[in-house]
Amino acid sequence: GRIMSSEVEKARKATKGGETIFSKIIDKVIPADIIHEDEQCIAFRDVNPQAPVHFLVIPRKRIAMLDDVNQDDAQLLGHLLLVAKDVAKKENLVDGYRLVINNGKDGAQSVFHLHIHVMGKRQMGWPPG
Ligand code: IMP
Repeated sequence: GRIMSSEVEKARKATKGGETIFSKIIDKVIPADIIHEDEQCIAFRDVNPQAPVHFLVIPRKRIAMLDDVNQDDAQLLGHLLLVAKDVAKKENLVDGYRLVINNGKDGAQSVFHLHIHVMGKRQMGWPPG
């Protein structure tokens, strides 16, 4: 079969429920390289970057995964996309970039706090692995 990255292995073993490391980043209990903050969300650099620029946009609201959002979150979800775009611009990703939301085991989600990956400054391939 295909070689599985340690990140994917981690994701396959990850379980949903309770506080995650991202809550601690939001609460500033553990440090992160935060590049955007507002009343609804924060953005910070991924500790294990998969591209020269790789940051995460996360809601302050504790939502485990995309599956858990509903109509009440529509404004928040739109806001996360707008922040992703604005921070991408601030990071000078003028030649484009990639957004990813991993959802659940098959999506290789490893941290159960909703997050949008934003990656840029290299040519992406398609399809993703
Ligand atoms: P997922 O696989 O979509 O759940 O992505 C989780 C991401 O969070 C991975 O890209 C990790 O490298 C990243 N990550 C995990 N812990 C931390 C941290 O403490 N700071 C910044 N990024 C983190």
